[in-house]
Amino acid sequence: MDAARVARLIAELRSRGARVTGARRALLQAMVDADGHVTAEDIARRVEAAHPDVHLSTIYRTLDALENLGLVDHVHLGHGRAVYHLSDDPHQHLVCEQCGAVVEVPDATFAQLKASLLEDYGFAIRPNHFAVIGRCAACTT
Ligand SMILES: [Zn+2]
Ligand SMILES: [Zn+2]
Ligand SMILES: [Zn+2]
Repeated sequence: MDAARVARLIAELRSRGARVTGARRALLQAMVDADGHVTAEDIARRVEAAHPDVHLSTIYRTLDALENLGLVDHVHLGHGRAVYHLSDDPHQHLVCEQCGAVVEVPDATFAQLKASLLEDYGFAIRPNHFAVIGRCAACTT
């Protein structure tokens, strides 16, 4: 487990004036361990395995609270359920419609598109909410 990352996230929670509860700590730990994109159910299973005393409803409530606090974010990678990731590592998602590969790219990738849509249409895109679908390098060749 990346204890330093968990400690950083907990410090972030405190700096936002939020309470550090056992459930919040357990959930952040589970997400650091998962290290990637996990569904709410995956997270609940991981937290339950490590902390059988934490109620399932508490886990889902805690996930919502952490998302409202900005520590966790969700993204829709395709037709399936939304997946969650920690927001301390900002990135955008490209998903291959052929093989399902998820490619993480830096936020700056969409900077130009973001600026021109804002300028031409007054529309502020938030591309991190949904993945951009296409073909990955392996499937295009
Ligand atoms: Zn959504
Ligand atoms: Zn992600
Ligand atoms: Zn592919």
